Amino acid sequence: MPTYEYRCEACDKEFSAILSIDEHELEEQTCPECKSNRVAQLLSVFTAQTSRKS
Ligand SMILES: [Zn+2]
Repeated sequence: MPTYEYRCEACDKEFSAILSIDEHELEEQTCPECKSNRVAQLLSVFTAQTSRKS
């Protein structure tokens, strides 16, 4: 299953969630840190360059 990455707009926490396509479309994600649902999905999922982090 694909991994989706999110960043919380409330506390700036970045987190990832492994979801099926259905879950991704149906479920609203919440921040594991502050439980806010103001999360933005990051779009780097399928670009395989994960070895470098700035
Ligand atoms: Zn948060």
